[in-house]
Amino acid sequence: MKCPVCGNDCIRDAHEIIGIMPEVFAPCPDCTPLVMNKDAPPPPVSLDVCSCGRRFLDVVCAHVYLIMVEEGDLLLNDPLRRIGSPMIHPGFAMESAPFLPEKSLVLLSPLVSRESAERIIKEVPEARGVVRSGDFIPGELDANLTREPRTYELLAGCDVRADIFFTQTSPIVLYKEQSKIHIEFPRGYDPKIIAVGVRVRRHNPRVFVDACCGAGTLGILAGMIGTPHVVLNDAWYAAAFWTSYNLRVNMESMLLERVDIKKDYTALSKNPVVREPAVVAVAEGEQTVEVYQGDFFRLPPFLPKERPILTVFDLFEKKDRPLRERIRKEWLESVGGDIFIP
Ligand SMILES: [Zn+2]
Ligand SMILES: [Zn+2]
Repeated sequence: MKCPVCGNDCIRDAHEIIGIMPEVFAPCPDCTPLVMNKDAPPPPVSLDVCSCGRRFLDVVCAHVYLIMVEEGDLLLNDPLRRIGSPMIHPGFAMESAPFLPEKSLVLLSPLVSRESAERIIKEVPEARGVVRSGDFIPGELDANLTREPRTYELLAGCDVRADIFFTQTSPIVLYKEQSKIHIEFPRGYDPKIIAVGVRVRRHNPRVFVDACCGAGTLGILAGMIGTPHVVLNDAWYAAAFWTSYNLRVNMESMLLERVDIKKDYTALSKNPVVREPAVVAVAEGEQTVEVYQGDFFRLPPFLPKERPILTVFDLFEKKDRPLRERIRKEWLESVGGDIFIP
């Protein structure tokens, strides 16, 4: 599938990504791990890439560090961790630090300059994208849609990467632009995924609604468990777009035959936050999945009439009790069914 950020072939079907997991970050017999103290400057090391095409994560970070020092983003006595957060692609829970192949790292850094970013992409083979991050969550949207989400800035390369989450059924592969959507890094045991899986099995709904779906995790999970009708919604265009793409990526783990994406990335980006729900994608087969971009308070008239129905609200404002109460009350009046706010 064509990548909307760089135009290349960044997006693969879930089985291809799941298939490479065992060896993608594994060392060959010549690879050597070189664990560095992240609270000190990196020691002088060889930056050579092994004959297998991989380098240990810390060596790649040291390479990035040297470029950032040369460009004046860092000082020579800064600790290694000042480079920022290296996000691997694909991301999944691992027991030991990875040996990185080409184009497998997206760097999130509050300190990186455009000059460094361009050099990192040119000179560090493992680098895939460099993003200037900030001390906020990209794509964070309040339930009342009072302000447009803030995003990080992609400085060079492509910031589309996948995370793989283990569930009680098949793993879910979720692509996203690192600068525009937040997902927690997979830890191998992800309580929200387990909790929603348990609820779906217990309630066995005809309809599952993922009201603020982000990259689509919980709705796709319900689809994989076999819920006949799934509706995913998010007011943020990047979330609605990547949810649609992720449906396609994970289609083979669901009872779907086709995913029809109705709005492309450019069209969606013209209206980053939308109140009146509009269809972004429809998927059909033995089950039906719809993706909307809109305000979830306006979603009830668009929902299928079948029952039972289970709705999950994965809010950014998890601790806002009055908001949770209001959502519960309004939703019970207009839609009914079971409500889960993790
Ligand atoms: Zn790309
Ligand atoms: Zn090697």
